[in-house]
Amino acid sequence: MITDECINCDVCEPECPNDAIYMGADFYEIDPHKCTECVGHFDEPQCVQICPVACIPLNPEHVESRETLMQKYQRLTAIKVTAASAGV
Ligand code: SF4
Ligand code: SF4
Repeated sequence: MITDECINCDVCEPECPNDAIYMGADFYEIDPHKCTECVGHFDEPQCVQICPVACIPLNPEHVESRETLMQKYQRLTAIKVTAASAGV
């Protein structure tokens, strides 16, 4: 999750492999349904690594095991493949 300490610097959005980061009403937000904490793509959460003000803590309302995150990654990847083959 991104806290209100976000300075809208824009650097995290393009780093997310799952397109989970988007501009919210006042600052950037993360869609927890798309975020895998970068599991499946990278060893470390890319947005957390790059954020200059360290305002991206884990969301206590969305504590997920690595296994759950991997399943989410596989589901998201399958959706992407399906969309690509359908020409979406
Ligand atoms: S942890 Fe990874 S998947 Fe989640 S929002 Fe950050 S960059 Fe995207
Ligand atoms: S990198 Fe951090 S400060 Fe910059 S937009 Fe993302 S959450 Fe906000």
